[in-house]
Amino acid sequence: MEKRLQNWKKAFLSRGGRLTLIQSVLGSLPIYYMSLFKIPCGVIGRLEKLMKGFLWEGVEEGKKNHLVKWEIVIKSKEEGGLGVGNLRNQNEALLAKWLWRFPKEPNSLWHKVIRTKYGLQDNGWNANPPVRGSSRSPWKDISCGLQSFLQCCKFKVGNGERVKCWEDGWLEGGPLKEQFPRLFLLSRRHNQNIASFVDLSINFLSWNFDFRRNLNEVEIEEAARLLQKVENVRLSQSRADDRRWKLDLSGLFTCKSYRSFLSNNGIVQHFPPSSQIWKSKVPPKVKVLVWLVAIGRLNTCDQIQRRSPFICISPHWCSLCKAKEESVNHIFLHCSYTIQLWWKLFQEVRVSWVIPKGCFELLSTNFEALGIGRKAKALWGCLVSAVFWNIWLERNKRIFDDYTGVGVADLWGRVRYWAAFWASVSNEFKNYSLSHILWDMLAVVK
Ligand SMILES: [Zn+2]
Repeated sequence: MEKRLQNWKKAFLSRGGRLTLIQSVLGSLPIYYMSLFKIPCGVIGRLEKLMKGFLWEGVEEGKKNHLVKWEIVIKSKEEGGLGVGNLRNQNEALLAKWLWRFPKEPNSLWHKVIRTKYGLQDNGWNANPPVRGSSRSPWKDISCGLQSFLQCCKFKVGNGERVKCWEDGWLEGGPLKEQFPRLFLLSRRHNQNIASFVDLSINFLSWNFDFRRNLNEVEIEEAARLLQKVENVRLSQSRADDRRWKLDLSGLFTCKSYRSFLSNNGIVQHFPPSSQIWKSKVPPKVKVLVWLVAIGRLNTCDQIQRRSPFICISPHWCSLCKAKEESVNHIFLHCSYTIQLWWKLFQEVRVSWVIPKGCFELLSTNFEALGIGRKAKALWGCLVSAVFWNIWLERNKRIFDDYTGVGVADLWGRVRYWAAFWASVSNEFKNYSLSHILWDMLAVVK
């Protein structure tokens, strides 16, 4: 992998390009390996170091600040990351695919090999995990994840012959033995399937839990709750019991859903600006910039000063208004220079607005400024991104080059131009020319 990266060293890649490369090449290189073997921690560490370095520093460009913590970068885009993915979780999700497929493919050769070598667990869904101390084998790696995999499975009861009544989680609220521990201890039928608890000779189901003694008052109440819980259960002779996947509406296993479960225990934190940023029709490097703005991680003066308090930055004020201290929310929103640009934008689309608290809030708001059609959304996304992009270019040129800067009117012209240009190459505007869009933005989105 290092060698592959070396080949890219001469290519000048923006951060957006590097991100694409990481996702398409680096992230998927080890997939074949990862779907069969557990990657040793050391290797994961090295791979991640390569990816980190490549994203923030390029190759042989020397050490640079890593603007965003790796834990955030690996999150999915919906959750506020760059969607690079955590290799350890990806590895585990890919291995879990075999656990899912095992009971579904009883006639395949691999199933037979595993079944002969390790034997089946008594419910027949899973193979036994290899005993400790046995030699290293792919199945051993795969079985390691069995417990957490089972947490995400549920059962769909058919004829009740393969699901264990007390022990398997086939009703809401988890396994019955956990919901009714006292009754479970009193029952003589442990490790038995559902069908053996019911009398099928009569029309409605009659349940027999086979308690070892008469129940006392408290236990009778509990038993009543238990019966209430199972009263609507119907067994179907024609359909076998099935194992379903909890994390996906289809009930089928997906690596993606399991990966997300492994990285945050199934709780998805929603990052409101994500669709505004990643669905826009602008180049990847612009998206990455807007993402950095949304999470407030750019090398503005205040951030540099916080990280290295002893560095003397010159100029230490905002290069756009030369009056206030520079921060992300200042240069991209509240600066007296930038705010005029936003006013021009909202004037152009004839929408009134209230200046938001920060860029995060601005990007989280769905202004529907141009309307709700596909073209309207696309052009609006390009316009907002173009403001951020041009402000950043202007600011950098003023700081790093011998350049005094342009006025707001000129910069607004550039914003319009770039927004129209990005829109004109998108699918939404394939029948429109650049000049057409520039001529009247309100008309083309109608
Ligand atoms: Zn300013």
